[in-house]
Amino acid sequence: MTPSLYLNKIQLQAELDRCLNCKTQPCMHACPVNCNPQEFINHAKQGNFAAAVKTICRNNPMGQTCGLICPDKFCMQACTRRHIDFAIRIPKLQATILENYRSVADEHSPVPDNGQNIAVIGAGPAGIAAASVLSKNGFSVTIFEKSSQIGGALNLIPDSRLPHEVIEKDWHFLFNPEKMQLNLNTPVEKPSALLKKGFAGVIVAAGEPNCASLNIPGEELCLSYMDYLRTPEKYKTAGKIAVIGGGNVAVDCAFTALSNGASQIEIYVRRRLSDMKISHDEYLRLLNAEINILPLTAPEKITPGTNGLNLFVHRNEWIDDHPEPIHDSATLLQGYSLIIKAIGSYADPKYEDERIIYAGDCKTGGSTIVEALASGLSSAELLLQKLMTAKH
Ligand SMILES: Cc1cc2nc3c(=O)[nH]c(=O)nc-3n(C[C@H](O)[C@H](O)[C@H](O)COP(=O)(O)OP(=O)(O)OC[C@H]3O[C@@H](n4cnc5c(N)ncnc54)[C@H](O)[C@@H]3O)c2cc1C
Ligand code: SF4
Repeated sequence: MTPSLYLNKIQLQAELDRCLNCKTQPCMHACPVNCNPQEFINHAKQGNFAAAVKTICRNNPMGQTCGLICPDKFCMQACTRRHIDFAIRIPKLQATILENYRSVADEHSPVPDNGQNIAVIGAGPAGIAAASVLSKNGFSVTIFEKSSQIGGALNLIPDSRLPHEVIEKDWHFLFNPEKMQLNLNTPVEKPSALLKKGFAGVIVAAGEPNCASLNIPGEELCLSYMDYLRTPEKYKTAGKIAVIGGGNVAVDCAFTALSNGASQIEIYVRRRLSDMKISHDEYLRLLNAEINILPLTAPEKITPGTNGLNLFVHRNEWIDDHPEPIHDSATLLQGYSLIIKAIGSYADPKYEDERIIYAGDCKTGGSTIVEALASGLSSAELLLQKLMTAKH
């Protein structure tokens, strides 16, 4: 059974009641955007959901999206309740409160225009967070997005985990038509060209649009996770599927293949099981779905076979904190309908300029939504400081 995205009323109350109201707020200190669960849970416990919503939205411009997909390594990892039984499901609480209690009335207060225009490249979480801070500070912000929708890499996450309408809902609450302009289907080739067009500064939040390479013979026979997750219906198959990669992108590919009818799914991970960058929940879901994970196993070659694709793999051993190939351990595996690579991605080259600031995954490498949001917020603050200094 697919777990529900939100808590029902009884579950919400039970989860609120479990919170210990820790005065030292470890959950807040562990959050990259400093969201304050102790405070919003306390408001919600007292039935003041409007205040809970306000607390969540104070620091997180995409609170509902974040609540649905934020991994368990931040606030939940720090939650004191872990020492008694298990952590409060803070992200799920947050998403549930916003889904049920956020109202249109919480929209923007007017800000005086400061006469300056800023360009933001990319409408993923980092770009959206930067645009929200800048617009609140009186700038006119133009967002240039090369694809046809907002959300960036979040749009590759299957709807069963993150429906696109939730991203749109967060956007609806932060979008200020007086101060923000969104240009979809508008790629920007050179950020510096925007400075020449009169923008006072540019935030580049373009993510990592290029898929990392396996560098093995026959790589062209496999599919990238981007192509697969963008249009999974194109690749429906009841056959056997191999996914290469050890993070939550690989897990999303595996579950998408499952719901697309695949009969057998294997995930090949070159490192150890414990090195996989997935949450506890994701790991349990894989076990329950009987999706096989093969750790310390790396691909060597892909060839066409008589009955689908052949995948040659070798075994690794763990030496000095690294996977090292075991000599003569190559095995031929046959009969794959699809082999999907999900081993990461990388950013476009960067341009040096005082007034061009990078944010999100294109700056830090592949991260999480909350880290991309935090990076977007701090890049906007940095640009604000630079523009202030330049003025004086
Ligand atoms: C399948 C998948 C599953 C994930 N699961 C999770 C999860 O469960 N939890 C979690 O926290 N994180 C998850 N992530 C990671 C998360 O989505 C990213 O860390 C986050 O979206 C990065 O935000 P960003 O704004 O830096 O970049 P992106 O979200 O990549 O956004 C960049 C935007 O810039 C646009 N762009 C690029 N180049 C240009 C250009 N030249 N001109 C104009 N626009 C441009 C792109 O079209 C895109 O919209 C997942 C990622 C993927 C791919
Ligand atoms: S650490 Fe956990 S128990 Fe303590 S206030 Fe935060 S959510 Fe509640």
